[in-house]
Amino acid sequence: MTPSAESLQTERDAKDIWKECLGIIKENVPFLTYHTWFLPIKPYEVDNNILKIYVPNNFFIEWIEEHYNTLIKKMISQVLGPDGKLVYIILEEKEDPATPVIEEKKLSVAVPEQSNLIKPKDFESYLNPRYIFENFIKGEGNQLARAAAYAVSENPGQTSFNPLFIYGGVGLGKTHLIQAIGNKILDRYPEKRVIYLSSDVFTVEFVEAIQNNTVNEFSNFYKSMDALIIDDIQFLVGKEKTQDLFFHIFNTLHQTGKQIILSSDKAPKDLKGLSDRLISRFLWGLQADVQPPDFETRVAILKNKSETYGIKLSNEIFEYIASNITSNIRELEGCLIKLLANSSLNSKEIDFELVKKTVKEVSTNKQINISIDYITKVVCEFFGVEENKVREKNRRKEVVLARQVAMYLAKQLTKSSLKTIGLHFGGRDHSTVIHAQTSVEQMIKDDQRFEDVVISLKNKIELSV
Ligand code: ADP
Ligand code: MG
Repeated sequence: MTPSAESLQTERDAKDIWKECLGIIKENVPFLTYHTWFLPIKPYEVDNNILKIYVPNNFFIEWIEEHYNTLIKKMISQVLGPDGKLVYIILEEKEDPATPVIEEKKLSVAVPEQSNLIKPKDFESYLNPRYIFENFIKGEGNQLARAAAYAVSENPGQTSFNPLFIYGGVGLGKTHLIQAIGNKILDRYPEKRVIYLSSDVFTVEFVEAIQNNTVNEFSNFYKSMDALIIDDIQFLVGKEKTQDLFFHIFNTLHQTGKQIILSSDKAPKDLKGLSDRLISRFLWGLQADVQPPDFETRVAILKNKSETYGIKLSNEIFEYIASNITSNIRELEGCLIKLLANSSLNSKEIDFELVKKTVKEVSTNKQINISIDYITKVVCEFFGVEENKVREKNRRKEVVLARQVAMYLAKQLTKSSLKTIGLHFGGRDHSTVIHAQTSVEQMIKDDQRFEDVVISLKNKIELSV
């Protein structure tokens, strides 16, 4: 038997009830609508099955009722029961907040039979729970970065490390560290608004917002964070409009004591193509680099990871791997995963032969970080096409060809999804990217010279990063 609405209500306060409502709304309205129109609403009280909420002004009520009347009715009936009601209270700035204007808007609620509206969920933080401080091995190369990260996670926005800017080469733990901060903040302060994203995703979302005329909502959403974590900020190089917007978001957050955490493959001063005013902001807080781990740290990381994967290896093997893979922690990890795969696929013990073979494979198969924009630049240069043409609706033959080859190489050389790739080419659909792939594959089959061109472009891109 389900409890009656009344008994439910006594157990929950207005805050809980509104949270549940937000969960339903979130699942049923576009992302930006949710952030613009619903998140600013605050619960006031719940009394006799009447939920009272504060809205900033009358316009909110009108807008919500015009666009989402049915949803709100269903939601109230679901959360408060069939005789539930919603009352808006307008919080006029000039009014004495103790005596808010009460705008009674009773909703006559229809009783939906069975509703599948309830899927409570707040906005996604995009943090990987695997990246935590507890499994981050300390070493000389990451000492300062780790200590600063930890301090920030304890007191977000309250230390002088704002922004915290972590930089260094590929595979040295930047992403791990900045996500560990986010995870720890949420552990300690579950109510805080923390979001993690790469600057690439930020740019793509911004472009989408421009197309949909929702730049304000987009920017307000990020301004509403308690901690904003942006990975690989170097991808903002050359993107002036995105930099401008980020500059404003940065200022708002900084002024209101919110924490900003950034990572980059270079120190701020070496980020050529980033505006000076942005670089000067980055210098306000703390810049900490991560260096390749020394031998002892590499062995410690290997031991820790193999425990996680459940592989038992001798010290001799750990030391062999640690002396041969020296520059990159991702490769150390890759080596263990490969060993595990090889031994279980061939149901073989992990012996020294297998270790040697695997180390060789891993150390020649370098991981690289290539941006879609860089690929586009190289491809366009080759075909003699202006870069912005491939992002527009241009159907000239050479533009189409350059666009397709760039899409094809983006799929081959980056980990980006079809959707992300499409967005980089003027917001095209993922099916366009699939079509580009099949066309290029066909042309490669049909024409040896074309294949040579694609291979040489690929080599050029891979060699230059
Ligand atoms: P980056 O962002 O600098 O390219 P990542 O944070 O993605 O590097 O790290 C690559 C891999 O190595 C990740 O799986 C991460 O968990 C691991 N790693 C990096 N540094 C450490 C460390 N100090 N201790 C444990 N694992 C680490
Ligand atoms: Mg990273």
